[in-house]
Amino acid sequence: MTTNNRNTRQVVIAGAGPVGCVTALILARADVSVTILEAGEDLVPELRASTFHPPTLDMLDELGVTPQLVAQGLITPKIQYRDLDDGLIVEFDHDLIKDRTNHPYRLQCEQFKLTRVIEKMLGEYPHAEIRFQSKFLGALQDADAVTVSYETPGGVEEITCDYLIGSDGSRSAVRKSQEIEFEGFTYPEQFVTVSVPDEVDEIVEDMGHVCYIAHPTEWCALIHAPDYWRFLFPIPMEMTREEAFDDDFLQGRLQRLAPYDGNFSIELKTLYGVNQRVAKTYRTGRILLAGDSAHVNNPLGGMGMNGGIHDGINLAKKLARMYQGGESDELLDLYDRQRRPIAVEYVQAQTIRNKKNLEETDPKIRKQRQEELRAVANDVEKTREILLQTSMISGLEKSEAIL
Ligand SMILES: Cc1cc2nc3c(=O)[nH]c(=O)nc-3n(C[C@H](O)[C@H](O)[C@H](O)COP(=O)(O)OP(=O)(O)OC[C@H]3O[C@@H](n4cnc5c(N)ncnc54)[C@H](O)[C@@H]3O)c2cc1C
Repeated sequence: MTTNNRNTRQVVIAGAGPVGCVTALILARADVSVTILEAGEDLVPELRASTFHPPTLDMLDELGVTPQLVAQGLITPKIQYRDLDDGLIVEFDHDLIKDRTNHPYRLQCEQFKLTRVIEKMLGEYPHAEIRFQSKFLGALQDADAVTVSYETPGGVEEITCDYLIGSDGSRSAVRKSQEIEFEGFTYPEQFVTVSVPDEVDEIVEDMGHVCYIAHPTEWCALIHAPDYWRFLFPIPMEMTREEAFDDDFLQGRLQRLAPYDGNFSIELKTLYGVNQRVAKTYRTGRILLAGDSAHVNNPLGGMGMNGGIHDGINLAKKLARMYQGGESDELLDLYDRQRRPIAVEYVQAQTIRNKKNLEETDPKIRKQRQEELRAVANDVEKTREILLQTSMISGLEKSEAIL
């Protein structure tokens, strides 16, 4: 480790979301000194991501994190594809890919549980810390170091490091400070999430715990997270927040998805716009991007946080090899080469396709899609192929094969 000086670190990370936290843990375990600058007063308590895919669980297991998530989550081996009018079309079971993962299921566990687990683990490393109320403002780099300035309640401070990682979310100040383009598009509708404690599988008997329900205007992703069942669906751009959160409107939507003799107990609701974007590069010299600061996508398939964690693990392992094994910083170009194309060709492509399939308006194509799904379900090899894709195993293998 280079130093104990509070204002000099080997690596500084902006943002203590899931990606910043996982990245810091790997660095701390490799004896690299690391500080996370977090703008908030505490870890963000937002619900947001809840799906952990099998390879993410495999990787987090190596860090001792997975058992702590499993203890707080719901193991969900099956996913369903449904149609709002025609009901259950097919159900796929991750048991079919148990030869390729130690965790043949999706784990539903809110992302704030991951960051809390890691915050505690980081406390065991004197050379790792999270500084709260420390908002990244800007960075200046030369051939040897990066000087990072950040705002605290006591004024602007500086910290010097070898490398800066921006994992400060989709509006990344790190990405903007480097003037890196965020290429892609914004969807012309808004997304609503509604969380209810009502047991939806008691209301609709064959309803699974992860369901993608197709319909031209009222498609929905339904997830059973530990404390709630969460419905995610689109609404027109013109609707105001007040209209979107109107109880009659929401009850009507939920009733069509799961007809219920009574009102749902809506406890949480969120409204947000959705983008499909990837940063033009993940590296400018000593400054790197990972997670939502590097790529954002729609939540259908649960790939945003998972892909971000894969970035963070890939990058932290490369930095550890540079510090421990004296390898050159060309490894950081390899990080960009491995992770960026996967975000574009795999995660973006898959999530865009997921949304298109759900919202198909042509009744003929909608039926054809159902037939295709049934044909896959009747063929073990094809089902395995789909599960390897949706669980992100194929994409990761492709990424790791890039040299
Ligand atoms: C409704 C919804 C459901 C989702 N479901 C899933 C899912 O099931 N599976 C999945 O994989 N993904 C899902 N996602 C996406 C997932 O939430 C994100 O991909 C994930 O949070 C990205 O993690 P991150 O660490 O890169 O960024 P973030 O979680 O956004 O964390 C960024 C952190 O940086 C901090 N920060 C911001 N600016 C600064 C600054 N200037 N200085 C210092 N700190 C700063 C923030 O306070 C925050 O703590 C979902 C998203 C939504 C909205």
